[in-house]
Amino acid sequence: MPKPKLIVASTRLPVTMTRRGDGWQVSESAGGLVTALRAVNERAPFTWLGWPGAPVPAAEQAAVTKELARYGTSPVFVGKADMDGFYQGFANGVLWPLFHNMLDRCHFDRASWHAFRRVNEAYADAIADLTAPGDMIWVHDYQLALVPALLRDRGLGCPVGFFLHIPFPSAEAFRTMPVAAEVLRGLLGADLIGFHAYEYVSHFRMACLRVLGVESEPKQLRLQSRSIRLTVLPIGIDPQEVRAMTTQGEALDEFSEVSRTYAGKRLIVGVDRLDYTKGIPQRLMAFEELLRTRRQWRDKVVFVQVAAPSRTGVADYQALKREVDELVGRINGRYGTSSHTPVVYINRNVSRERLTGLYRAAEIALITPLRDGMNLVALEYVAARDALGGTLILSEFTGAAHCLPGARLVNPYNIERVAGVLHEALESRGGDAESFEHMLHFVHENTSTRWANMFLDRLETVASSDHVAERALLSLRQPDVAGRYANAKHPVVFLDYDGTLRSYVIDPREAVPDERILGALRRLAEIATVYVVSGRDRATLEAWLGHLPIGLVCEHGLSIREPGSCDWQRRTNATGDTLRRLVGPVFEDFVKRTPGSSVEQKDAALAWHYRAADPEYGVFQARELLTRLEDLLKRKPYRVLRGNRVIEVRHEEVSKGFAIGDVLKQRPETDFVFCAGDDTTDVDMMSTIASSFDGPNICVWVGRPDASAEFWRESATALLGDLEGLARDLQPDRSAKPTGLAGGRAGRLTIVR
Ligand code: UDP
Repeated sequence: MPKPKLIVASTRLPVTMTRRGDGWQVSESAGGLVTALRAVNERAPFTWLGWPGAPVPAAEQAAVTKELARYGTSPVFVGKADMDGFYQGFANGVLWPLFHNMLDRCHFDRASWHAFRRVNEAYADAIADLTAPGDMIWVHDYQLALVPALLRDRGLGCPVGFFLHIPFPSAEAFRTMPVAAEVLRGLLGADLIGFHAYEYVSHFRMACLRVLGVESEPKQLRLQSRSIRLTVLPIGIDPQEVRAMTTQGEALDEFSEVSRTYAGKRLIVGVDRLDYTKGIPQRLMAFEELLRTRRQWRDKVVFVQVAAPSRTGVADYQALKREVDELVGRINGRYGTSSHTPVVYINRNVSRERLTGLYRAAEIALITPLRDGMNLVALEYVAARDALGGTLILSEFTGAAHCLPGARLVNPYNIERVAGVLHEALESRGGDAESFEHMLHFVHENTSTRWANMFLDRLETVASSDHVAERALLSLRQPDVAGRYANAKHPVVFLDYDGTLRSYVIDPREAVPDERILGALRRLAEIATVYVVSGRDRATLEAWLGHLPIGLVCEHGLSIREPGSCDWQRRTNATGDTLRRLVGPVFEDFVKRTPGSSVEQKDAALAWHYRAADPEYGVFQARELLTRLEDLLKRKPYRVLRGNRVIEVRHEEVSKGFAIGDVLKQRPETDFVFCAGDDTTDVDMMSTIASSFDGPNICVWVGRPDASAEFWRESATALLGDLEGLARDLQPDRSAKPTGLAGGRAGRLTIVR
C-alpha cells in the first residue's frame, strides 16, 4: 500500500512557468507559504497542487504535468476566461475587499461567481484524483473557500484542513455578500479551519450563526454528523533566514547606502504591496501631520515607503497609485528643501535581501494597514533589527497586533494620533528595549515552520480522534464481509436518513431524496426488507419515501409503518399528556421571553424551536432552558435531545433501538442485518443489534469511524455505492429462492431472474 501523503492546495503553485521556444521553463519562487512548508517536506513528502501561472494548451498539458512533478507539484489547468472570473472577478473583486471590511469596493456579478465555482470544482477534482484513503489535505486561503465542501461531495473521507490567510469580516459585513451562505458551506466541508487571530474566529462563528443558523463553541462547530475544529494559529516567518541575510551582499549594500545617504537623519520605513487595504494614503497624511504640527522634525526625518506594484490592471489600484503619487508630491513639495526630501517613495518590487538592509537602517517602522490578516513585514522588521532594537508602530487592525504586545498600536484612521505616536517614538530615541525584546522573542518562537507543523499536528489529532483507528473502512469486496450475507435468505436493512442516506444539508427541509437514493432503496427492497429509521415526522417520511416498498420508522422510533402497509403502528403507550403537563409551562414561558420561538406538540414529544428567534439570543436562551430541563426531569423517564435550533423532550421508550428491537422480534427468520447511521440516536440501533441479534451483521457509521459500529464509510455517497453493491450481490442468490422474504413484504416479492 502506498504511504499516506499530504496534499497542499493553493491558488498559485510555488513555481513560475515561462514559455521558452516551444516548451516551458519552470523555476521555483519564494514566498511566505513556501518558507513555511519547506520544513513540512522533511516531515512527510507532499504534493503541492495549484495553477501553474499561465494557460497551458491541452496538447502541452501532459508534458507540463510531467515537468512540474519534478518539483513535487501538480497543476490544475484553468482556461483564461474562467481564471479571470475566478481571480480578478470574484476572489479579488469581492472576497478580498469584503474580508477586509471594505464593502464599497466589492463588485459582485453572477458570471464571476460561476467562474469561481467552476475553478473551485476543478481544484476539488484534481485533489480527488490524487488522493488515496489515509491522505491528508491542506487547502489554503479564500480563493479556494469552496474546495472543502466540494471534496466532501466527491465522497472523500480524508481529513481536510483549511487555513484562511486574510481576516474574516464581521458577520454584518459578511452577510451582505449575495452568496454568503454558499461560501460558508464551502468552508464547513473542512475538519479544521485555521485563522491568524481569535477575532476572526469570533466573526466566523457569528457568521455561521447569523447566516446558516449553526451554533458553535469557541473551538468547534458541530454539524449534524461532523465536528469542525477552529484554531487560532498566527503564521510566522523564518527569523534565522532574515538574520543570515543581514550579514550578506545585497542587504549589507542597502544598509550602507541608506545609512550613508541619510546620515544624521532619523529614518522611518514602511513596506507594503500597493493595495488599498494597506492604508498608505492615511499613513502619508499622518506623516504630513507630523511635519505640519511638529516643525522640529521637518528637516530631520525621512520616511522611506516601499509600495510594490500589485494588481496594476485593476481600476481601484490605478486610482490608489494616483492618490499616493499626489500625496507624496504634495508633502515633498510643501516640506522638502533643496537638500532634504521628507518622503522617499519606491514604487517598485524590492528584493527581500534589500528590504532586510532597509529595515536594519530604519529605527522606526510605520506599518499601518486599515486591515491585514497578519502582516509579515512587521515580523521581518523585528527579525532584521534584532539586537539593534527599534520601534514598531503597528495598526491595531492587523493579525500581527494580536501577537506583538511590544508594538505601539494605533488606529490608522486616526491621523492625528498616528502623528502623535510617531512624534513620541522620535522623542524616545531607540525605543523601549524591553518591548522590543518581547517582540523578538515571539518572532523567534513562532516561526513559519512551527506554524506549519502545529497546523498539521492539529489536523492529525482531529483525524485520529474523529477517525477511530481500529474501525475498518467498509469494503463489500472483502471475503469476510461478503461472506456475512452471501447465503442470507431473509436479510433486513436498517438505514438512518439524514447524514446517512442523504448527505448533510444545513436547512433540513432541503434534504429531499434524489433519484439515486430512491433507486437504491427500490432495488434493495426487491431483495431485502428495508426500513428507514428516522427522527423525522410521519408526514415528511410519507411525502419523501412513502411510495417505496419499504418500512418507515418516524420520530426516533415512535411509530412504524411496515413495508407494503399504509398504516402507522404506535410502538408505545407513552403519550405526550404527562410531558405536556410537566414541560409545557416551561416551554411556554420561554416562548414569551424569546420573540420568534415556538412550541411544537408532537405525538409523544414536545419541542421548543428557536430557528426564527434572534440567533444569538436564541442560543443564550437555549442554554438556560437546558439547565431548567435538567433540574425538572431528574429521575423522570424522559430524554432531552438537542437538535438544530430545537430542543426536544420525549419519553425514553421512544428510541430507534427499541423500534428495531421490535422489528427483529417480529421477524425471527432474519438471518442477516445491515445497519447504517451517523448520529447519536443511531447508537441505540447499533447497541440493539449487538445485544439482541445473534446472526451475521454489518453495522456502518457514516462520515467517520465510531466506537459503536464495526465499519465506517466516508460519506453518504460512498454508503449509497455500498447499498447499490449489496443489491447487486444479493440478487443472484435471491433468484434461486422463489419463496422470497417473509413478513410484510410478501405481497411485493420480486423474483429476480
Ligand atoms: N515584499 C517584497 N518586496 C517588496 C514588498 C514586499 O519582497 O517590494 C515582501 C515582504 O518582505 C513580505 C511580503 O512581501 O514578506 C508581504 O507580506 P505581508 O504579509 O506583509 O502582506 P501581503 O502582501 O501578503 O498582503
